[in-house]
This record gives sequence, C-alpha cells and structure tokens, in this order.
Amino acid sequence: MVGKAEPMHEMIVAQNVLAAILDEASKQSAKPTAAKISCGKLNVINDEALRFAFGAIAKGTSCEGVELEIEHKPIRAHCKNCNAEFDVENSYLKCPKCGSDDYELLPDAPLLLEEIDFQ
Ligand SMILES: [Zn+2]
Repeated sequence: MVGKAEPMHEMIVAQNVLAAILDEASKQSAKPTAAKISCGKLNVINDEALRFAFGAIAKGTSCEGVELEIEHKPIRAHCKNCNAEFDVENSYLKCPKCGSDDYELLPDAPLLLEEIDFQ
C-alpha cells in the first residue's frame, strides 16, 4: 500500500496509557516509576513498539522514564455444562473441570492499566 501511513495501533494505545497514568499521578501528586498493563491475546500489541511509542510521547512529562510491563492474558472460555471458566490453552479442548466440550469462548480481555508504581 502506498500513501500516508496510518498511526500505529501501539501509538494510540500508548497515548491512552500515558493519559491514564498522568491522571493518576496528578491525583496522587507522585512521580510514577513503573506501570503494568494487560490485554487479551487477540489484542495484537507489539511490546517493543508500545514501549518505544510510550517512551517517545512520555518525554517531558512526569512519565518520562516509566518502565512499562505488558501482560498478555490468555483467552478464557465458559463451560456451558458446569459453568466453570478456564484459560484456553492449546492443550485444552475440553473443560478441565468436568470434561465437557460444550463451552463458549469469552470476549478477549480489554486493555487494562493494572497498576502504577510511584516513587
Ligand atoms: Zn465444565
């Protein structure tokens, strides 16, 4: 494709994360040093690209130098037979609790700001 490049997905995510951390930092009047975010496996985020984008836009803010930890959560499923919820790993084709294969996949985990460490 030729033309103007779309803004990277990671840049948009980085902007949202930065805004959320800055908001919390001003509430606590503290300087953040590290933050942890999580997202579902289907939410394709490149860790390196996100860290790079975050580092770039955090320059000059109180988030400069904040370490970002990114956790990718597994996809969850709900067993229609026993109501158990479980992680879908490649090896799980059945409910680990009752052995039923009558289950539905739950929506991918949203992008979440899990915690912020302050100085
Ligand atoms: Zn079950």
